[in-house]
Amino acid sequence: MSISGVDCYRCGSEMKVGLANFEGEYAGRNFDVSAEGLLCPQCGYKTLHASQIDAFKTIVADAYRIAESLLTSTDIRKVRTQLRMSQDEFAECLNVGVASVKRWELGKAQDKSMDELIRLKCDLARAEQNVEDVLFSHGNSSEFSGNRPFSLHKLGHLILFFLQRAKAKHKVIGALHVNKLCWYADAWNFARSGVSITGTQYARLPLGPAIDEYRIIFKALQTQAFINAKKMDAFVPLREFDQAAFPSEEIGVMEQVWQSFGGRLGAIVDASHEEDAWKKTDHANLISYRLVNTRTKKSKA
Ligand SMILES: [Zn+2]
Repeated sequence: MSISGVDCYRCGSEMKVGLANFEGEYAGRNFDVSAEGLLCPQCGYKTLHASQIDAFKTIVADAYRIAESLLTSTDIRKVRTQLRMSQDEFAECLNVGVASVKRWELGKAQDKSMDELIRLKCDLARAEQNVEDVLFSHGNSSEFSGNRPFSLHKLGHLILFFLQRAKAKHKVIGALHVNKLCWYADAWNFARSGVSITGTQYARLPLGPAIDEYRIIFKALQTQAFINAKKMDAFVPLREFDQAAFPSEEIGVMEQVWQSFGGRLGAIVDASHEEDAWKKTDHANLISYRLVNTRTKKSKA
């Protein structure tokens, strides 16, 4: 910012913009901080221009935060952007108003308990992001991924396929059915061709096969604007299903799964419990695609 034509109050010389030490007050305490101000090269007089006051206040508030071992405004902005969240998303994550997030980043200090909440939530979010990075980077294909590296993009569109079909029938489906529909699609494609469709790993959960770490996966699909998964029992598509993401044989399998279960979604849970792949896998373990047999596919098709 260029500030010119301001004359020194004391000696009348033109003042220059520069760094100097100023004393500021925050929460009843005084802090000596280095900030940008107006300096007189002649007599050494220094002051703050109106346009420099907000930045100065932030620096003083940060000095207070450092003294109190609180996150500074820069720290808060940094953790937020590292988590790839907007101010709105960050506010929602902390369950506070977006105005609070804006105030903290502009200089007003958060209190001690809020500071602890921010640290806690950011640690959790960071841990979740680490899991996400591990999940999404497992490029290896194994018997648990159906001999194919995981593709979040294909899984997202596979789910959109089922949501679109359900919507056409005026049905609302969520995690329970989506998990099983996707498993059948991947499993039947494996039975047909020796590879899954999406490379997704599934775990044996009490209610049937489920996408491994499905909460994180659904959340990631929400972040990437595939589905709104806020209500786990009622997913909402956020974009159109892209048929071009799949070869026609895979679309054929997806159609087959929907034709088998779309009309009797209540039965898919029971059906999945009859599968060898589910029965022969221990609780919470990953389900091997090798346990999927072609007999299963034919009996259901
Ligand atoms: Zn002067």
